[in-house]
Parts: sequence; structure tokens; C-alpha cells
Amino acid sequence: MAGRKAKGKGVRATVRGSVQGVGFRYEAVSKAHELGVLGWVRNEGDGTVVVQVEGPDEAVDAMVGWLGEGPRGAAVEAVEVAGTKVEGHEQFAIRGVAAGVFVVQEHQATAHHWDLRLEVDGVMRSWAVPKGPSMDPAQKRLAVQVEDHQRSHNDFEGKAGEGSVIIWDRGSYEQGGRVPWPEAIERGHAVLVLHGEKLEGGFALQRTRPGEKPQWLLIKRKDDAARPGSDVVAESPQSVVSGKTLADLIAES
Ligand code: MN
Repeated sequence: MAGRKAKGKGVRATVRGSVQGVGFRYEAVSKAHELGVLGWVRNEGDGTVVVQVEGPDEAVDAMVGWLGEGPRGAAVEAVEVAGTKVEGHEQFAIRGVAAGVFVVQEHQATAHHWDLRLEVDGVMRSWAVPKGPSMDPAQKRLAVQVEDHQRSHNDFEGKAGEGSVIIWDRGSYEQGGRVPWPEAIERGHAVLVLHGEKLEGGFALQRTRPGEKPQWLLIKRKDDAARPGSDVVAESPQSVVSGKTLADLIAES
């Protein structure tokens, strides 16, 4: 985890006032780099700006101090600060930038796997995950990049020539990190935030082996949605569309 700073503390700050539409998020990124703090910033629907700040105590305090003033053009009325767990970011990112839809299709073909598909520039970038995704940050799941799929395939559930498929999870996702997509994927390190029915919160996709069938690791971030020790594919095997498990579907004749 290059660039990861030493352990320190984490705070979650809510900035109230006239703070959106004034470049607050971009200035916060610059200030965070200057101070060496990690985390993220996002605009909320209620007009506030919410900031996760992690790093050495003094740097976090300095960042919170800056939030009380904000960039030129902001009129900060209040900053509410609460302690929060350190999520373990590698950079300070802007969140809340909608990227598109995602789907996870559990697929029994020659081999059993879960296909994670992320909408990027109108197509579904796809990874086959043999053990399926996990909500446990300690689980690093192999994800083999496979061919892009059309968005129309996201709705497919049933039996097809190549096997049986259920829609195991779906929803929307946000891009994370400072590097815009699809560059982040080309560089081999992509941070994303999923909003599914089963999968929720931050994940990282880290390429470990390039080549014809690039290998990646899919890793849950240590955020509020993380569930250490859980096994979401075993606990929640049903399709989010039909309620069927893959075994139910295969048993149908
Ligand atoms: Mn597949």
C-alpha cells in the first residue's frame, strides 16, 4: 500500500453553511495532500460537505481547522466532528461521483464463479471471481478480468448455452480515488464504492498479474459497511430478482 501513512486517528466532519458549488471538494483534496492526511470528501444532498480525515493527530487537527474556513467563496457556519474508525485509505479522494451501474451474476459454467461487472463508458467491464465477493476486509478475492459485456446482459437470469446464471446483486457504484476512470483500471488500481442490496461500501480492485487474462484482487475496504468474519455469498445466496438460488435454478427442468 504505497503512500499509506502511519496509523493515527480518523474523524468524520460535517461542514455546514454555504459550502457547495465553491470548489470545496477540490480545495480539500489539495489541502489534504499538503497536510498528508487521507480519506475522502463528498457533497451531501442536504447541502453539507462530509469529510473523512485520517492520519497523524496533528495533521488531522490541522485539516479540521482548515474545514472551519474552507476555500475562498465558502461561508462555513459549523463543522461537526465525530471520531470514526480508520478506513485505511491510500489517498484522499472525492466521493459521490456516480459512475454507473454494477451487477454480480453468479454463474455455473465449466467452473462456478461470480461475475462482477462495472459500467465504464457504456460497457460492462467484467471480472470472474471464483470464490465470490466478500464483505470481510481480510479476504482478498482473486478476480480474473474477462471480456466486456453489453449492459443488456445485466438483466439476464436463467439457463443459457454456457450454463446457469442468477443476478446475485446489483445497484449503482461510485468511482473512488484520485485517478479518473477508466485510467484507474488501465493502471491496475481502482477504488470504488458499491451501493448494492448485498454489497455496500468501499472496495479496491488491485491488478496483481497483467497479461492475456489479467489477475486482480477484489478487497473490501475497512469502512462502516465492512463485516469482518462474514461470508456474504454463503449467507445470502438468493437472486435479488427472483429469490432463487443458483441450485434452485439448476434443479428446474
Ligand atoms: Mn461467467
